Amino acid sequence: MSYVKNAENASVVLEIIQAIHVNARYLSEIDGATGDGDHGINMNKGFMLAKERIETGMSLAEAFKILGRTLAMDIGGSMGPIYGTLFSEFSRAMQKEEKITMQILLAALENAVEKLMNLAGAKLGDKTLIDAIYPGKEAYKKVADNNGSFNEALRALAEGAEAGKENTKNLTAKIGRAARLGERSRGFLDAGAASCCIILKTMADAMQKRMIDD
Ligand SMILES: [Mg+2]
Repeated sequence: MSYVKNAENASVVLEIIQAIHVNARYLSEIDGATGDGDHGINMNKGFMLAKERIETGMSLAEAFKILGRTLAMDIGGSMGPIYGTLFSEFSRAMQKEEKITMQILLAALENAVEKLMNLAGAKLGDKTLIDAIYPGKEAYKKVADNNGSFNEALRALAEGAEAGKENTKNLTAKIGRAARLGERSRGFLDAGAASCCIILKTMADAMQKRMIDD
């Protein structure tokens, strides 16, 4: 069975942090088209704060826990609690596991999507990060349900999130600051979907690199 070790894999989370850091300007540019342009700055602030608190010898679950807690406690606006919830759910699903298997990550994704939808009050198609993570999770689940490999499921997660993020250009914002633009929000990417896509793609890539087959 294929798995990613939980122990001493905090570097997966450090790669996610680095990806947000290098894309901070890009994310603020996207946010600036329909919002106040602070998404990349806020995200970078929270993720860099978490980086100081994470040690490379920590487990994957411990590093996700620190990232989630830091975002929830130390970052304002709506994104702190939302991403705080995402990473805390990942940590919760993994903390008792020695091996992170395809099914463990499926449970993590499903719990996280459900919690995020409740917290944000967002449905699919509202032009939020749900439009990246939901199709990513569905694509991943399809591979898992059809006895595909963990590697294939992670690739599907990345591709599903990317397609979903791109599709936010075709959507009208229903909640958040961009909703005030109504139809004029169409034609632009959603910044939350863009950051969520970066997170999921980086996580999928980092986990594929650390995949153990036995
Ligand atoms: Mg903003």
